Amino acid sequence: MADELLQDLWLHQTADVAVNTLTVHPHRITVHAATTSGLASCPSCATLSGRVHSRYVRRLDDASVGGRPVVIELRVRRFRCGEPSCPRATFVEQVPGLTFRHGRRSQGLQAVLRRVALMLAGRAGARLADVLAAPVGRSTLLRLIRAVPETALPVPRVLGVDEFALRKGHVYATVLVGIETRRVVDLLPDRSVETVSAWLTDHPGVEVICRDRSGTFAEAGRVGAPDAIHVADRYHLWHNLAEAVEKTVLQHRALLPEPAPVVDDELPTVAALPSVASLPRTTGRLADRVREHHAAVHALIDDGVALRTIADRLGLARNTVRRLARAADPDELLVGRWTGRASILDPFKSHIDQRFAQGLTNARRLFEEIAQRGYPGKEQIVRKYVLRRRTSSSTARQSISCQSGVSSSGPFATTSAP
Ligand SMILES: [Zn+2]
Repeated sequence: MADELLQDLWLHQTADVAVNTLTVHPHRITVHAATTSGLASCPSCATLSGRVHSRYVRRLDDASVGGRPVVIELRVRRFRCGEPSCPRATFVEQVPGLTFRHGRRSQGLQAVLRRVALMLAGRAGARLADVLAAPVGRSTLLRLIRAVPETALPVPRVLGVDEFALRKGHVYATVLVGIETRRVVDLLPDRSVETVSAWLTDHPGVEVICRDRSGTFAEAGRVGAPDAIHVADRYHLWHNLAEAVEKTVLQHRALLPEPAPVVDDELPTVAALPSVASLPRTTGRLADRVREHHAAVHALIDDGVALRTIADRLGLARNTVRRLARAADPDELLVGRWTGRASILDPFKSHIDQRFAQGLTNARRLFEEIAQRGYPGKEQIVRKYVLRRRTSSSTARQSISCQSGVSSSGPFATTSAP
């Protein structure tokens, strides 16, 4: 009864095959079957032939039943090809939906394993296949994935181009994304102008190229898709804006006014906290990044690597690499370009600082003194500067002397602590 049921189930899947017997072993089920169609088609010339040359039994693994592996012992025939011009003298028949040439599995089992491989890949897939009573090696599963034919996706109208690291700092490749479909269209083995432009030439139809500001993709677009419009992608716009803001704020940190003291008894007064200006300026994500890049660039320079190659390897702009290479110390790069020219008062700050140290803190008197020395500005500016000096706590004195150092020498980072 059970045999008949299994036989029925099995026969439903496969035409042109007769099941003769079905043996249920403790750990396996064997299906003894034979092909029934009268004619078979030659795989070379597609001529139908009914002239049987010989017969033999093929063993095929099939999907398991009730946790037991199923083996089909299928009696197949070898036919003679009747077409005189055909180079093939004989051929073995294949059963549509069941067998394929040289295959040791049924098409059904092959399809199941392919799905397992696509979902879980090698190792995990092999473990699940074990549970499904269809044991298979992980390399076989990976081969099944590689054998899946690639469906060519339509060329996107709006194409996103970006690089990604195969090995960070060393090997980079390019990913192409259909911006409207949000699907990866292709992966290219490197990020060279030649490779990307060749892809664009082979895939006409891209109207908009969405990219970062690297010269490589700009050039590739110009060569491979000369009519396409280039737009900066949103990620890089935000990313660059965030970086620029961080950098600017860091550069002007010492110019931020001290916050007014908090009167609430519950909270510590601001005077008890380190002043903003006395905190080390060159900390934070940006500073860490600059230091990392500086170290990496100089290590490669020491190895004799060209700046151009360094830029490619580290994924940095050439100008950035040039700046990093020029700076003996990364902190030089963390200092603002504008900080030294913040005010027309700058050339007179050292005088004010000196007089401050001597005990003269009257803004009007200090204004008059520097006006005699050629200060062209208004008294108001002197008043603000003096006020800032007065309100800073004594702990901030070091940083103030640092600030005065700015006016004479420029860099903020040089702390002239006593
Ligand atoms: Zn033939």
